[in-house]
Amino acid sequence: MKKYFALLLAGVMALSLAACGGSSSAPAAPAETQKEEAAAEAPAEEKAEAEAPAAEAPAAEEAAAEIKTVEAGKLHMATNAAFPPYEMISDNGGFEGIDVEIATLIAQKLGLELVVDDMEFGSVITSVQGGKSDIAMAGLTVTEERKQNVDFTESYATGVQVIIVPEGSDIATVDDLANDKMIGVQDGTTGYIYCSSPVEDGGYGEDHVTSYPNGAMAIEALKGGKVDAVVIDNEPAKAFVQANAGLKILDTEYIIENYAIGISKDNNGLRDAVNNALKELIADGSVQQIVDKYINAEN
Ligand code: GLN
Repeated sequence: MKKYFALLLAGVMALSLAACGGSSSAPAAPAETQKEEAAAEAPAEEKAEAEAPAAEAPAAEEAAAEIKTVEAGKLHMATNAAFPPYEMISDNGGFEGIDVEIATLIAQKLGLELVVDDMEFGSVITSVQGGKSDIAMAGLTVTEERKQNVDFTESYATGVQVIIVPEGSDIATVDDLANDKMIGVQDGTTGYIYCSSPVEDGGYGEDHVTSYPNGAMAIEALKGGKVDAVVIDNEPAKAFVQANAGLKILDTEYIIENYAIGISKDNNGLRDAVNNALKELIADGSVQQIVDKYINAEN
């Protein structure tokens, strides 16, 4: 089953094979660093403005003047802020996480102010398509199907799907999921797509999958015995297992997924500007520094 699962992933997603995935892989990015503090705190309302320092250079303002966004002077980011450490609500009710900080720096480079639009994961792409948000940034995996709906920037991080089970579970491998188990996933995610695929395509079938609006709710269902396992991206998995006693992540061998920013197919100016800003932030080490702050430093 594991092999079929992997083949399915390769077919659906056109991604590279992981020689060894598991729960410990961290996003890849260049190693040089250049300190730049991101303003990630913002009020908790559905549409809250993150503090973005004023544009440093006239060049950024000029760039901003040419860039069309849904609201003048703002960069609206569609996300689901229940996906730690990429996006979550901080203790004081603002938004924080890897994606929030990278987006803050991108907005800053473009002379725009970041606004976080928090919604269900399943809506982030349609929000961009429908002209309600400028960018979808939500630990969003690049897939061929999603490419039909939005353009993607360069990838800035990687993820791996892993399996969370209660300690003492009789599920020890990917194959064990096929033994009439109920799998909890987040609605609309790649984990949902793989697991709900028909058995002949390497999945477990729709009947063996229950989807939840976000990861935290899937974890609650696991703790309450409503599902036998949860399939989710590795970094949120680590965060959920750390926060909930009695759960563990199985060692598995999976495909690496690439996370990127989704942008409207009708706004090449914005796509290019965001992509260039992101590339600069990868090249100067800012992205790596943010990743280290949330992930690598904890390991
Ligand atoms: N990486 C997964 C996907 O893109 C899950 C993302 C998420 O739940 N925020 O489908």
